[in-house]
Amino acid sequence: MILRCPDCRTRRTTRGLFMRHVQATGHKLCRCGGYHYAHRPGSPLCAYNPLSALRLADRDGADEDDLIRCALYIISETPALAPKVQALLEDWKIDVQSIR
Ligand SMILES: [Zn+2]
Ligand SMILES: [Zn+2]
Repeated sequence: MILRCPDCRTRRTTRGLFMRHVQATGHKLCRCGGYHYAHRPGSPLCAYNPLSALRLADRDGADEDDLIRCALYIISETPALAPKVQALLEDWKIDVQSIR
């Protein structure tokens, strides 16, 4: 069994050694459910990442309309994220003209 620290990517072979590493270094783990394993807070699908809702919707097979609706919601909540949201939609080849 290999456990990898999500913060520094150090590997440990047992849970005990891994927990000792996390406690000794103060490296952060998050178990929000965005991933089925502990991960670094703010990872792409993490609840602490403001764009995770959009990425999760895409992973779960949302169609373009749903993704745009989700994008609009994120932008209305946090206007400063608009450029990042638009960049993500462009990556997915979604026409961003429709959300401007
Ligand atoms: Zn670490
Ligand atoms: Zn998380």
